[in-house]
Amino acid sequence: MINGERTIRRPLRWGMIGGGRTGQVGYKHRTGALRDGTYRLVCGAFDLDAARGRDFGVNLGVDADRCYADYKELIASEKAREDGVEVVSIATPNFTHYEITKACLEAGLHVICEKPLFFTVAECEEIERLAEKKGLIVGVTYGFTGHPLVHQMAAMVKKGMLGEIRIVDMQYTHGFNSGDDVGAGEAVKWRTNPKTAGATFVLGDIGTHLYYLSEVVLPDLKIEKLLCDRKAFIPTRAPLEDHATVLMHYDNGARGRLWVSSVNAGNMGSQRYRFVGSKASIEWSDSHPDQLIYEVQGEPNRTLHHGMPYLEEESLAIDRMGALHTEGLGDSWSNIYLWIAQAIDAKNRGDEAFLKTHQYPGIKAGTEGVRWLENCVRSADAGSAWVDFK
Ligand code: NAD
Repeated sequence: MINGERTIRRPLRWGMIGGGRTGQVGYKHRTGALRDGTYRLVCGAFDLDAARGRDFGVNLGVDADRCYADYKELIASEKAREDGVEVVSIATPNFTHYEITKACLEAGLHVICEKPLFFTVAECEEIERLAEKKGLIVGVTYGFTGHPLVHQMAAMVKKGMLGEIRIVDMQYTHGFNSGDDVGAGEAVKWRTNPKTAGATFVLGDIGTHLYYLSEVVLPDLKIEKLLCDRKAFIPTRAPLEDHATVLMHYDNGARGRLWVSSVNAGNMGSQRYRFVGSKASIEWSDSHPDQLIYEVQGEPNRTLHHGMPYLEEESLAIDRMGALHTEGLGDSWSNIYLWIAQAIDAKNRGDEAFLKTHQYPGIKAGTEGVRWLENCVRSADAGSAWVDFK
């Protein structure tokens, strides 16, 4: 069980780029980072609007002279300080991730970046080489994958409790973009423009969460080929999609089906996963994150609850709240941030042995998400053809 005791030598000096007052995801980062005393927020370039960003940073408790107008000023000013920032989180629109990550790594800072990590696999591989050369960590905030029941699912698959995996069924949908974008806010504007979002809308925005979680639960399954059908129900969003279906063939013969949509009107289900094996199935949704449905063929269905002693050690070890209380998204983000802090601490100590076995969403997880997107777009652009996964 995680109880907030420090697991690294000292708190990391942490800064944020983006995630300002109007940003959707910024608070999730702070919820995750500031929970266990592993990070101390010392600076930020929180907002495109410098004055608003400064005011916001001061309200978060950051010194006014360490609330910067932009990331370049942050890097230059913090470099000049003995107690300068060591790690920054990037919670800005997609098109800025690569440029800011590169500049931060070149300045010797560890980076925690939002998904989808960059626009291309080539950019991801370049950044991986740069991070390696500099001895720095790049973490990626697939924030849902720190939940204890996600790791319960992974442990059950590993133990063979499902048998051979046959079907992977995943859905992340909502209806918030069912109407047109007239008068839409900034977060919708940049998400629906290929220049600022990249080659996809919902596939990158929410589909990458599904894909990474499936990699955590099913690390041995590799996609052999996929078919992606995508559509913009609101035509002004084309060539980007507000709805997509992806079929996948895995190397063990399993079949996958993934549905992402932001025009599923009225739906508040968020994300749902069903993994079907030859003996049993498991199903989990983050709208009821405390419960994992476990269905063994020929037996009564079971509902497993987080934190209960009958769960696998891998799940109990990362539980925070205990069985009688809800454990949700904020707790999951805290685990992700904790694991990334432990990776940074190990990197700083030169403990490569620890890093070899330590599980956290890092540069490879970010790269694989972008690789999956590239394959989806290749298939969709070929008229929803089956394409070999590369
Ligand atoms: P948003 O438009 O709501 O907020 C962006 C924030 O960044 C704003 O505060 C804006 O002022 C600031 N900003 C923009 N450009 C900047 C720059 N160059 N320098 C400094 N600040 C800048 O966007 P959002 O929905 O919060 O998404 C941000 C990123 O987070 C995206 O990559 C998105 O895909 C990702 N995201 C991830 C999750 C998750 O669960 N991991 C959830 C939502 C969003």
